[in-house]
Amino acid sequence: MVLVGGGHAMLPTLVAAAAWREDGLAVTLVNDHRYLYYSGMVPEFLGGVYREDEVRIDLADLCRRQGIAFVEAAATRLDSAQRVVYTAEGTPLPYDLAAFDIGARNPCVADGAIRTKPLHHVTRLGALLADLEAGRRSSLRLLIAGGGAAGVEVALNLSARFAGPDRPPLHLTVVEATDRLLPAFPETMSSYATDVLRHRGVTVLPDERIVNLTPGEAVLECRGPVPVDAALWATGTVGPALFREAGLPCDPRGFLRVRPTLQSPADPRLFAAGDCAVVQGYEHLPRVGVHAVKQGPTLRDNLYRTARLLQRGRPLAG
Ligand SMILES: Cc1cc2nc3c(=O)[nH]c(=O)nc-3n(C[C@H](O)[C@H](O)[C@H](O)COP(=O)(O)OP(=O)(O)OC[C@H]3O[C@@H](n4cnc5c(N)ncnc54)[C@H](O)[C@@H]3O)c2cc1C
Repeated sequence: MVLVGGGHAMLPTLVAAAAWREDGLAVTLVNDHRYLYYSGMVPEFLGGVYREDEVRIDLADLCRRQGIAFVEAAATRLDSAQRVVYTAEGTPLPYDLAAFDIGARNPCVADGAIRTKPLHHVTRLGALLADLEAGRRSSLRLLIAGGGAAGVEVALNLSARFAGPDRPPLHLTVVEATDRLLPAFPETMSSYATDVLRHRGVTVLPDERIVNLTPGEAVLECRGPVPVDAALWATGTVGPALFREAGLPCDPRGFLRVRPTLQSPADPRLFAAGDCAVVQGYEHLPRVGVHAVKQGPTLRDNLYRTARLLQRGRPLAG
């Protein structure tokens, strides 16, 4: 069994897999990073409330304790006909059964910007903030692209952390393409968040887009060039490219279509959960960690049942 991506939805499977060894199941996890960052706490890590080691799970260590082989690599290609996952280095990982929980991707990320997908990329911002806090840099001009829940939550945490005259200068700007922050939420919440941020000295720019980013400068569609030291990209999500490249049924945004069992309709040996999947009948669910967490036990139970059917040579419903 090859598990691709140790995300929020995969955790129950990783915990259960220790017992599956007694059934003769060999489980491998391939993840592009040693740690999984817990999304519900990451904004507060950036806000200085939690330490980094408090908001992440050590997947390599978890796998070692569970008897799971851990491969630290990005999976970049899937051949579902041959049942092989390939890493970015070209290492083949053959499987009888595979499950994906690799999250979503940020669309159209400008070169040099800090991604929020996968979430471990935000540690780059964590390092810049630590430098600012410790006086290793005199100021930080940070642009947040995207005024949705993620961008606003990060902005609120950062502006609280660096508020006050005796704090290191963080110059924060939030750029939102629609006419208000939190466009998916009620207007009262949007204006409340905008007021709080502006009161803390954050520049909030609705109806604006970043059209180019180079070291030291961002070019905004309406306002032109502005000086920046870093940009955080939090502008919605698209599906990872490898599903579409594998010729599997995806929705128009590139998320892998799965049945309510979390199996691909094209291949009952292929499972997906969390942000990278779109579940039949639940197409409009937002891509948030709470849904990934809820899918975790279903993924675990259905993977195990399917593995046992395969071991007994029984046909899979397709
Ligand atoms: C700043 C921020 C704050 C958020 N706050 C909340 C919140 O408070 N509540 C909430 O419900 N949601 C929140 N979200 C959304 C939440 O992060 C996602 O919905 C959630 O992480 C999805 O979980 P998942 O299981 O799909 O995958 P993830 O938990 O994203 O995990 C995917 C895993 O796969 C790995 N991976 C990715 N690509 C590959 C690859 N090609 N090969 C191998 N491994 C790979 C990643 O490193 C990661 O370990 C927030 C998002 C952001 C950006």
